[in-house]
Formats: sequence, structure tokens, C-alpha cells
Amino acid sequence: MTDTHTLDEIAELLALARRPLFITGAGISAASGLPTYRGTGGLYANGLNEEGLPYEDVLSGYMLRTRPELTWRELLRMAQRLAGRAQVNEAHRAIAALPHAVVLTQNVDGLHLEAGSRNVIEIHGNLRELHCTVCTYRRPNEDWQNLPIPPRCPECGAVLRPSAVLFGEPLPPEALTRLDEELARGFDLVFSVGTTSLFPYIAEPVALAASAGIPTIEINPEPTAVSHLVDYRLRGDAAQILPRIVETARSREG
Ligand SMILES: [Zn+2]
Repeated sequence: MTDTHTLDEIAELLALARRPLFITGAGISAASGLPTYRGTGGLYANGLNEEGLPYEDVLSGYMLRTRPELTWRELLRMAQRLAGRAQVNEAHRAIAALPHAVVLTQNVDGLHLEAGSRNVIEIHGNLRELHCTVCTYRRPNEDWQNLPIPPRCPECGAVLRPSAVLFGEPLPPEALTRLDEELARGFDLVFSVGTTSLFPYIAEPVALAASAGIPTIEINPEPTAVSHLVDYRLRGDAAQILPRIVETARSREG
């Protein structure tokens, strides 16, 4: 566990920060009981689904266009496995307690917004909304269990899809635009939480901050692609570490 002195130093930086950025991945939800998608114990650890097909093929934009029932069957299984486990935890709440924080998340569970964070860029979209693959119809998706496979648009009859990025698809343009705008405004403190930072758009804000001399902090149980760049490496569970930092920082703000 991280020593109190280091946590105090980071809390001091956070208390002074006007524009902190929190980059988050599946690991922030580990304490909620959500498995991470890849790696040890991951949802897709062996890479194959129940029918022996690679997840990356089944959950791809190409499969949704050509065999939507296969993609939707997998999405439903995924939703069942996650049902009741995708819940806001202390790490989400700690970030949400900072009204000036910007959140860049790879998670599609919508938990940062549910926790009350206001400025959230969901760079991989969100599973809690469905939209039509042809027209502009969209609606919240609260009821995975009762969806037909595949669900269809009530207005035009085309296949509906979750508003989350599937394998092989580009990132949502509006999220990318927001990220560019926020990066242009700049940050004065950058946290990387529960992510291995394998994607360039996730690692880049950390690298930019580090090269500009802006303090950077990583919270993750294991070393990651940005570990060599950051000023502070905290090895552990974000749901335990983040609340301590945020509480101390807020007590210093007075
Ligand atoms: Zn439609």
C-alpha cells in the first residue's frame, strides 16, 4: 500500500489544480465487481465466446452489419454477466466530488455520469443508449433482458445498436472533438486510473503532460504503457486510493 506521505503530496497537487484530468479504464470498475475485458480474469481472457468465435469478430462493426443476431446475442450475454454488478463505486464518487475535473473514460458502463461527474468524455461510447443504424432514432436502454434479437427501429425497421464503439470501428467524432478542445485548453494535473493505456489517444495526454512538466499520477495494480512517464506510480485499487487523495485535497482547499 502506498505511504501516507506520497498520498499527501498528491493531495496537495490536487488541491491546487484548476483543471485536473482523470483518464479511466476498466480497472476503475474492478471494485464494483466488473471484470476487465482482457487480461487475467478478464471477460475475454481466452478470446473466444460460447460458440467458439473470437470476441473481436463477433463484437465488431462488420458483424453487426452482416450478422446482427450474432453480435446482439453476445451483447446480451455480456449484459447478463454484468447485470447488477455495474455499480458506482468509491473511485467514481471521489472523482465526481471534484466539480472541475474532466474525465476521459474508455468505459461504456456510464458509471461516471451516474456518479455525478459533469464533464465526461466517453471515448468508446456508452452501452446505456441504443440508436438506429439507419435513421436518427435513439433511446435509453434500461431493459436488456427483454430486447428481441436483433432489436429493430420502431420508425424505419432497421437494426438498432448500442451507442458503444465495437471492434474495428472509428471513435465517435463528437467525443474526439471534445477531447481535442479539452486538450487545447490544457490541464494542470493528470491521473491515469485503472487502464493499461494501450491506445494512443489514452496514453497521449499523459505523455503530453509529462513532457510539459505537468504532474502525472498513475493508479493501477500493475505496470502499464505509461508507467515510465509518470511522476507517481500508485499500485493498488483506485476505490481505496482515490477517496483518500480527494478527501485530503478537499480538506486543504478549506
Ligand atoms: Zn431507424
